[in-house]
Amino acid sequence: MNPRIRPFERIYVEEAAREHPGTARVLEQLASSRVIVIDHYKDLFNRPRQDWRAQKQAPSLILARRRDDFLYDGSAHTPDFGHPRFFYNALALNCVYDCGYCYLQGMFPGAHVTLFVNNEDYLAAADRALRDGPLYLALSYDTDLLTFEHLLPHAREWLAFARSRPELTVEIRTKSARYNLLRGIEPIPNAVLAWTLSPQPVVERHEAMTPSLRHRVRAAAEAMRDGWRVRICIDPILRVPDWEKVYPDFIDELAGHLNLANIQDFSLGVFRINKDYLKNMKRRAAPSELLHYPYENNNGLSSYPKPQRDDMTALVRECLLRHVGAERIFVT
Ligand code: SF4
Repeated sequence: MNPRIRPFERIYVEEAAREHPGTARVLEQLASSRVIVIDHYKDLFNRPRQDWRAQKQAPSLILARRRDDFLYDGSAHTPDFGHPRFFYNALALNCVYDCGYCYLQGMFPGAHVTLFVNNEDYLAAADRALRDGPLYLALSYDTDLLTFEHLLPHAREWLAFARSRPELTVEIRTKSARYNLLRGIEPIPNAVLAWTLSPQPVVERHEAMTPSLRHRVRAAAEAMRDGWRVRICIDPILRVPDWEKVYPDFIDELAGHLNLANIQDFSLGVFRINKDYLKNMKRRAAPSELLHYPYENNNGLSSYPKPQRDDMTALVRECLLRHVGAERIFVT
């Protein structure tokens, strides 16, 4: 884990998760944390009137057993990379990082992290869904899954699962630099390791607690060297001061450290967010130019006005087109 991330001082264990081997595994690794048994994770996680910001300073970990909703239909606001059956799942809720633009700040009432221990039930749900045809499954939604891999090897288990199911394609998206947690696994063609990358000034200003651009790029380069299909996500693109220079410099920097021609594909998208989540974020987070920008509302989504969105996407796309073909750039 990033050294700036504080270990969980308290771990709440749901009664139904108490006997699960995953729970024992996590508790063994976090032996100095205080353990409190609770009835149901929602009693704590969904409690009204939580102090989001205070919790974010020192979040607790909740270990729980998921009972249902093992797969969700992919959102219209996320790219499906041409896969007709696009789903995602939530193996954890909330994140140890603290990106100022993160929709989780507006979606959940608190900042504690829930980690579901019963991955076997998620795998069984995927097998059931596969009976109806090939499936594209994003595994790291509503969290950054790789940041928990040292506690519970969910990503590793999914890669082993996908190895014998070629009709399943999995994507593991992260800002983590800890590719070493997956090292040693033989790459498979139906898995994509995706790194979300931002210009370093954006990392410093808006992606608190995350690894630097340099460290993320190094992790992506190692995964490519080992033979994994690697996706680069430049999402969200932010209209930061000097953005017309910041983003081209950033693409030049990527091209200097990664062989962009060997990247599987690129996923681009400007900042966009459910307007109700944005309202919640304004109440919870420290005031910032990012949250208080005069966004345009369209069908429940807040984002930059269309001419600005188009300018921003076009600039990043043009910079990438110097290195890769248009067919490998997906814009949301
Ligand atoms: S890494 Fe992703 S999930 Fe985590 S805080 Fe940042 S945007 Fe949110």
